[in-house]
Amino acid sequence: MWPLLLVCVCGLLLPADAQDRASLWRGNDRGGRCQYTFTVPSPVESSCPQTAGPEVEGLKARLGLLEALVSRLTAGDTGGPRTAGAESGLQEALNRVVGERNLLQGEKERLERELGGLQRRMEEMRRETEKLRNRPCPPHTSMVPPSPSLQDRGLMRPAGGSSQMSHLMTRPNRQGDSSSLRDPGWEYRAPGFQELKAEVTEVPAPDVSEDNTGCGELLSVAEPVTHRKADNIAGKYGVWMQDPEAVSPYGPDMVWRIDTIGTEVRQMFGYEDMEQLSKGFPSKVLLLPELMESTGATLYRGCLYYQRRRSRTIIRYDLASESIAARRELPHAGFHGQYPYSWGGYTDIDLSVDEQGLWAVYSTSKAKGAIVISKLDPNTLEVKRSWETNIRKNSVANSFMICGRLYTVSSYAAPNTFINHMYDTASSQGKAVAIPFKNKYRYNCMIDYSLAQRKLFAWDNFHIVSYDLRLGRQRAD
Ligand code: CA
Repeated sequence: MWPLLLVCVCGLLLPADAQDRASLWRGNDRGGRCQYTFTVPSPVESSCPQTAGPEVEGLKARLGLLEALVSRLTAGDTGGPRTAGAESGLQEALNRVVGERNLLQGEKERLERELGGLQRRMEEMRRETEKLRNRPCPPHTSMVPPSPSLQDRGLMRPAGGSSQMSHLMTRPNRQGDSSSLRDPGWEYRAPGFQELKAEVTEVPAPDVSEDNTGCGELLSVAEPVTHRKADNIAGKYGVWMQDPEAVSPYGPDMVWRIDTIGTEVRQMFGYEDMEQLSKGFPSKVLLLPELMESTGATLYRGCLYYQRRRSRTIIRYDLASESIAARRELPHAGFHGQYPYSWGGYTDIDLSVDEQGLWAVYSTSKAKGAIVISKLDPNTLEVKRSWETNIRKNSVANSFMICGRLYTVSSYAAPNTFINHMYDTASSQGKAVAIPFKNKYRYNCMIDYSLAQRKLFAWDNFHIVSYDLRLGRQRAD
């Protein structure tokens, strides 16, 4: 009994806070007696975490969350109209975006259609370009070479007889007046030529020197190509040539050479082709019945045309029969050093052949040393027409004819010199030009146009050389 009473007294003496936390448990024990049990936390136990407190706090927190949720739900009921407005705004924005998307889709389709059209046009243009590239160039009338035979048939025969040509000589304007010396036909064609070049920029330009089928004004001269160097002193000066209209028994590839140094020039060496010339293996040697002078000989239609020594006589020597076919004096022509080129060498009479036929370049006492050009009949050697230029013959190193135009070379020794004059027999007018020309071996004693190869042939200080040419378009008339 005393222990139970003590417990009660102690319980009454405990602090109030301990009483707040005291709990009473009452029940029957196994013996059927009523049992009272007090549970009071000790001061030490009060510092331990309580299990009941956090649970309640947790419940309070959960309750708070529920209350907040209910509040929000309640607020949601009361805020219904505002949500509908936002949805309406969102719907409008969505509609705008969809509309813009549709516009962009339409724009995309339009651009795709334009792209397709452009691709088709590109393909058409590509096919058209391909067709133009494959189409052969139409033959231009100006590229058709004039037929030399027209000259000889009399279709271009000049007025007047051959023996009175000095009365028909035409003097050009003085070269100081460059404006009056302009070739009107050439000036007229110049834009067309530039336009043609612009139109064919994608097409490889043909090498005019290699595929030159027509006449034209000389535009440029290429570097010299050396074919052969002479073995001995006899080859210091000479003339070499090829017949543009070879006659049997000699073929068109036959090349001929004559060494012109000394006083007994009569040997003529024939080579089957350029290769044999380069190798120095002649297949034919002819002995001319009359001695030759100058380096101005030329070949035409199976005949050698040359100046007979110490005379103004022109000889036509037939190669096939090895005999003289014609001979005739060139009226009033200087010879044997009277009107030579600047290098001398008895180069008084210079014969040559071009697209228009046989020409003689020389001077007379009447012309007082100025170059005279005469068109010769290749059969009879008669002068068909003459032109007197104002180019001093001894002021130029050499000359050659291309398409009826005379060109003169300024120097025979300067490595880099110029073709300095051009005289057109079609217009009887000349002009100064400046086409670069090279004397590779610095002593050029013979320069002539080879109609057979459409190149310049030259004999430069023991060396047989040739030059590729580039010609412009032919005159329209
Ligand atoms: Ca010449």
